[in-house]
Amino acid sequence: MDPREQSLLDAVPTGLLIGGQWRDASTGARFGVDDPATGQQLTTVADASPADAMAALDAAAAAQEEWAATAPRVRGEILRKAFELITARADDFALLMTMEMGKALPEARGEVAYGAEFLRWFSEEAVRVAGRYQTAPDGKSRFLVLRKPVGPCLLITPWNFPLAMATRKAGAAIAAGCTMVIKPAKLTPLTTLLFAQVMLEAGVPAGVLNVIPTSSAGSTTGPLIADPRLRKLSFTGSTEVGVTLLQQAAENVLRTSMELGGNAPFLVFADADLDAAVDGALAAKLRNIGEACTAANRFYVQAPVAEEFSRRLAEKVAAKRVGRGTEDGIDIGPLIDERSRDKVHALVTDAVARGARVVTGGGPVSGPGWFYQPTVLSNVPADATVATEEIFGPVAPIITFDTEDEAVELANSTPYGLIAYAYTTDLNRALRLPERIESGMLGLNSGVISNPAAPFGGVKQSGMGREGGFEGIDEYLATMYVGIPSPF
Ligand code: NAD
Repeated sequence: MDPREQSLLDAVPTGLLIGGQWRDASTGARFGVDDPATGQQLTTVADASPADAMAALDAAAAAQEEWAATAPRVRGEILRKAFELITARADDFALLMTMEMGKALPEARGEVAYGAEFLRWFSEEAVRVAGRYQTAPDGKSRFLVLRKPVGPCLLITPWNFPLAMATRKAGAAIAAGCTMVIKPAKLTPLTTLLFAQVMLEAGVPAGVLNVIPTSSAGSTTGPLIADPRLRKLSFTGSTEVGVTLLQQAAENVLRTSMELGGNAPFLVFADADLDAAVDGALAAKLRNIGEACTAANRFYVQAPVAEEFSRRLAEKVAAKRVGRGTEDGIDIGPLIDERSRDKVHALVTDAVARGARVVTGGGPVSGPGWFYQPTVLSNVPADATVATEEIFGPVAPIITFDTEDEAVELANSTPYGLIAYAYTTDLNRALRLPERIESGMLGLNSGVISNPAAPFGGVKQSGMGREGGFEGIDEYLATMYVGIPSPF
């Protein structure tokens, strides 16, 4: 292995973080973390058991009262320090993410900046949590309204953005005064472990932030969700797992935030600036190798420009360089594992069998590693599986439409509603679309809109709750109303 990669791996903690201590799993078990670009194991990490998870919740519950009483400014300063430490170690975080997740280094650096920014944003929000004092309408009483930390949280994160998905939950929880147990994805625990180490360095007290990587997510988190000391579950991942977790959370009427799957439509109207639309399409489709919940999943292009849009998009897609993300000049890394690569190829094969045309790409790249050619498909039937399921890969299916009504109907014809994209230069249309499209977010003449200062989240089966923005901290606060008789 490259010496720089080896020395980074040697420096990353690989234990469980419980009560401020790095520990082995109580069973002594460990599991392997692989590089998806080579299929080789990078290292192993401690494999938390249900008993370890319970020890982490014990630590979080024990730390809660004192942490909630900490001055908001102190919590804010810890987050600000963490932002600075991560920024100073951006190269380490980026390389580690590329090694365990696959995205190309420039994109990994982008995620470090994005992920760290949640900490800066919430460092500023920590001191702005306010309640109110109000006269009742009849003047006979007063209302005192408090905003209090909700309590110990379980934060479950996915593998596709290993840093940012952790910081946007943990940053808000810390700002609000909540303690937490983080369960990172089995495929990418290393970035979260390095993040946890930095949080300790930034001054997070023992027990406030605990991390439990595990190879058996359900059996490890189940007992925590059933424990009445847990007050909040925040999950980012697939809708399928989200539904299971919501059912478990219902037992104790747990507060939940759910950032689930997407199936983003990307609408290009004939009046669009086509160059901008093609660039936006590239960003919305190929960012993170297509493995983003915000990835454009279905391109609906108005008939007069469909041919031209496909041609221009395919030309740029074909120029993308596929390879291990650590190498210079690489745009597209590998998919996360063999199963994901095979799933992407099955969706392409199905679309082609139904009459779609491969404009560029169309197949896996021979190994090692789980690479897939960036692909553009045209003449895709609207009901092809590639358009109805989340692809999670670098494949752009293009479907033609005639009218705005038809485009809106197609865009909304999904149980998901995370994000949509639309390109148009017609002002009235641009103002109409946000009112007609069923999604939590809309990129208007823009292919990437995620921003820590904006509320991220979905409607329908894409979830509930918002992360980032002014809204992000609300997810970790409970409102208390105190009724007081009028002093007059
Ligand atoms: P996943 O649902 O398989 O796993 C997500 C996390 O849940 C992982 O940590 C996993 O170990 C854990 N998990 C799995 N089964 C569990 C169970 N029974 N109990 C408790 N935890 C369990 O999703 P993934 O493959 O890691 O991520 C991809 C999915 O995440 C996609 O659907 C994508 O759209 C979605 N995603 C959504 C957002 C968003 O903000 N809406 C952001 C990123 C990813």
